[in-house]
Amino acid sequence: MEKIIKNGKLVTDSEIFDADILIRDEKIVAVGKEFNESNAEIIDASGKLVLPGGVDAHVHLDLPMPGTVSSDDHYTGTKAAAFGGTTTVIDFANHDLPSLIDSFNVWQEKALPNVAIDYGIHQNFTRFNENTLKEIPLLPKMGVTSIKMFTAYNGRMRLQDGEIFQAMRVAKDEGIISLVHAENGDLIDLLVAEALAAGHTAPVWQARTRPAWGAVESGFRVAALSFSAGKAPLYIVHMNVKEEADMLLYARENGLPIFGETCPQYLLFSEKNLEQPDGAKWVCSPPMRSEKDNEGLWEALADGIIDVVSTDHCPFLFDGTKPILYEGKPYQQPGKELGKDDFSKIPCGLPGVGDRMPVLWTKGVNEGRISPTRFVQLTCTNPAKIFGIYPQKGALLPGSDADLAIWDPNKIVSYGVKIAKHRTDYNLYEGTELKGFPEKVFLRGSLIVDGDNWLGKRGGGHFLKRSRFLG
Ligand code: MN
Ligand code: MN
Repeated sequence: MEKIIKNGKLVTDSEIFDADILIRDEKIVAVGKEFNESNAEIIDASGKLVLPGGVDAHVHLDLPMPGTVSSDDHYTGTKAAAFGGTTTVIDFANHDLPSLIDSFNVWQEKALPNVAIDYGIHQNFTRFNENTLKEIPLLPKMGVTSIKMFTAYNGRMRLQDGEIFQAMRVAKDEGIISLVHAENGDLIDLLVAEALAAGHTAPVWQARTRPAWGAVESGFRVAALSFSAGKAPLYIVHMNVKEEADMLLYARENGLPIFGETCPQYLLFSEKNLEQPDGAKWVCSPPMRSEKDNEGLWEALADGIIDVVSTDHCPFLFDGTKPILYEGKPYQQPGKELGKDDFSKIPCGLPGVGDRMPVLWTKGVNEGRISPTRFVQLTCTNPAKIFGIYPQKGALLPGSDADLAIWDPNKIVSYGVKIAKHRTDYNLYEGTELKGFPEKVFLRGSLIVDGDNWLGKRGGGHFLKRSRFLG
């Protein structure tokens, strides 16, 4: 079965040009002009852009949290992603069982039957011991070439510096990149206890008890550990403070293979949003910072310091006491109201996987902060390269999977919860006018989103066995 996407303007990580795309079955077979495959289905993209399908390298689907579970599972979250132009996500497997490999397998059983787009898995490494350390080298055979560690969440997921160092050293030898959530766990625990003891229960205290400098020093500290581990490849997730980007640049200029990610919420919101009556909607960790940080992070994106924009998608209902309708059926789960009397009990996380590309296009490209090619680097190509799925994903090249979005740069949408397809009851961009929106989205040659119509299916996604990090 052949398809030709005709008359579109292609946007890749390096150029913008008029070309047609010939698709055979699941792959792009040629990019050029005047294909004369007479039996091919013709899809007219006149006046439209054609982008690679988005790659969101940081999502949490069906993630259990105290007293609840995140409201998008592997089906609803990947469907929402597709509507926003994203055709690949990388989810995180909890390290719930003593064995790292058993933990991966359990997560995989939950994900694979449900995903509607292609996906990979980062493996959390949160139980450090002799046995789990020995399991790290087994991961690449299972298609997992990244581990995730934490310098916060004391007593739950945090590892000590020496433990992170040892894991990085093993990971480096296997071509596995280490991802780190960098905040200062000791400071956070102390400040949260003090705030609650003083009677501070409102959402804004979630931000006030997670110091920005704790994020900066933790990121720099793990860069130091990575140097000490022989320049182990390192990826700092969800950078949220301007000075984190300064530290990243310093480490990179000194020869460390280090990469940085931020998320739209850290570019567009600040602690002020947490002061609103509905501030719990913005509670995620790390927290919203300052407007100075927003600007600093935009600059770091434009300057090539930060490499990736992903979402840390992990939504909850704002009001979990009431059901919502999803695909015509009621859905209900405890949500942000769990923290109405105690900010530390607000489930941490927010919706974003479907918002990412249209929001970043409007706020980044239309407002002149980043170019269209930089947009493609940040949302498609860089994450695919860093995480071992390029050029299968993140590119419009012969041999790439035919994952693409036909993008209407002139479509104006009054965005919000009714347009976004996340399974939750709110959207952070409610009422925001977006210009530029995906019109059709293809996954491996199949049309899965056509305007407002969902043509994808549960279980239609493939697990991506990712290549090792080669530097
Ligand atoms: Mn995190
Ligand atoms: Mn996360």
